[in-house]
Amino acid sequence: MSRKISSLLAIAAVCVTLAPAPAFAQTPKKAPVDCEQVKCIALTFDDGPGKYAGTLLDTLKKYDAKATFFLEGQYVKSRPAFVKRMAAEGHELGNHSYSHPDFTKSEADTIRTEIQKTQDAVKKAAGVEPKLLRPPYGLADLQVSDIATEFGMPMILWTAGSEDWKTKNVEAIQKKTLEVAQPNGIILMHDWVKQTVDGMPSLIKTLQKKGYHLVTVSEVLKGEGENLQPGDIFPVPAGWEK
Ligand SMILES: [Zn+2]
Repeated sequence: MSRKISSLLAIAAVCVTLAPAPAFAQTPKKAPVDCEQVKCIALTFDDGPGKYAGTLLDTLKKYDAKATFFLEGQYVKSRPAFVKRMAAEGHELGNHSYSHPDFTKSEADTIRTEIQKTQDAVKKAAGVEPKLLRPPYGLADLQVSDIATEFGMPMILWTAGSEDWKTKNVEAIQKKTLEVAQPNGIILMHDWVKQTVDGMPSLIKTLQKKGYHLVTVSEVLKGEGENLQPGDIFPVPAGWEK
């Protein structure tokens, strides 16, 4: 090794030594869940934050579970503290319109306003902007897809529903959810349904006993090897063509 190179290396070594220790040296963080390797599932809660979001957040925290909330702007505005907590506690936030119109029956400008107002409300409440869109009722068409593209968002539907809004019964919600649970599944639920929130501790315990890690939608997408682009839809509904 020439002298010049070795002295350069010596200088580099000094620089490395003087560099401040990286932050993770002090605060060890849990390794992220790899949904390609382990069983994951994403519980998603629509139309909220609902009245019972605080209780739900307590439960999720207790069982170290993460969820995704597809928020309705009007309730973000009326219950901003829940939204702030969701973001602070590591949950994923999605946009579910401002007042829940059927986007496939709406004018383009109405759709844009519905999405933008919700982005703004979430930003104001939690300091972050949703990166995922779930159109109301899970209904989308090419116009909705084009507008999602303008906002830089893919559209996320679900692999199965808990039917909680229909049954409103703790046992029925648990039974249905366990029936449709699958690795990297995305489950539709609602945090305005009291029975969903009431049954959540035992549902989470059962899912975890079955080996599931409760993660965000983005983690499930990673596990599926999906690199969704703005305007894409997942899972792709029957009859969807782009
Ligand atoms: Zn909805």
